[in-house]
Amino acid sequence: MILVGLTGGIGSGKSTVSSLLEDKGAVIIDADAIVREVQLPGSPVLAKLAEKFGAEVLASDGSLDRQAVANIVFTDPDALKVLNAIVHPAVGLEMNRRMIEQRTTNNVVILDIPLLTENPREGLQGKIVVDVPVEVQVERLTKFRGFDEADARARIGRQATREQRLETADFVLDNAGDLAALEPQIEKLWEWLKSLPQLPPDYEPVTPIPNAGPKTPDTKS
Ligand code: ATP
Repeated sequence: MILVGLTGGIGSGKSTVSSLLEDKGAVIIDADAIVREVQLPGSPVLAKLAEKFGAEVLASDGSLDRQAVANIVFTDPDALKVLNAIVHPAVGLEMNRRMIEQRTTNNVVILDIPLLTENPREGLQGKIVVDVPVEVQVERLTKFRGFDEADARARIGRQATREQRLETADFVLDNAGDLAALEPQIEKLWEWLKSLPQLPPDYEPVTPIPNAGPKTPDTKS
């Protein structure tokens, strides 16, 4: 297995890049998707969230009302700690399980982690950063994702800065242009990924390093 992290600010194009890499044959472990999975109706995580925060965090169909949770933790740091203490271990375990499932293969495994700069993780062979100027983030979030501008800017402001992300990047994708401009960069990225050494088949995933960065969950539908 070759194991690399992928990160970028909200709306920078992580999912777009993941999907292009998947087309090349990469295996994507998508942290956001796992967060949603571990909170599905019937999960122990959802039961604990309902127990701690009350039935108000459940939608009428029994699923998690992510907006209700976001509203609670937005103004209450202790509630955010409780939320993270319930959700993070379950997500970590599932991510580890998927890495372990891959470790005896020769696959390129990409961990798509939106807050990888805020919550660094050891044991990766490199970090890919999808880089766009803030104005492009705002434009795409408002144009394609239905955010209003103030909300988009507030969410961007709660994340690491562009500069902080670039400081620790091993491979930078410039996604300020159109998709045609991204394609050749993906080709180069794929060559780089394939040139990395295979990890040993008994590779043990390393848990993320806790840090005080912004961790307010974003509610993405
Ligand atoms: P999030 O942080 O919310 O998970 P993301 O980083 O995964 O977002 P995407 O969902 O890939 O970002 O991209 C955000 C939006 O911008 C999407 O609608 C996507 O189709 C669009 N987009 C991404 N890259 C480009 C590009 N190069 N040109 C035009 N639109 C793009």
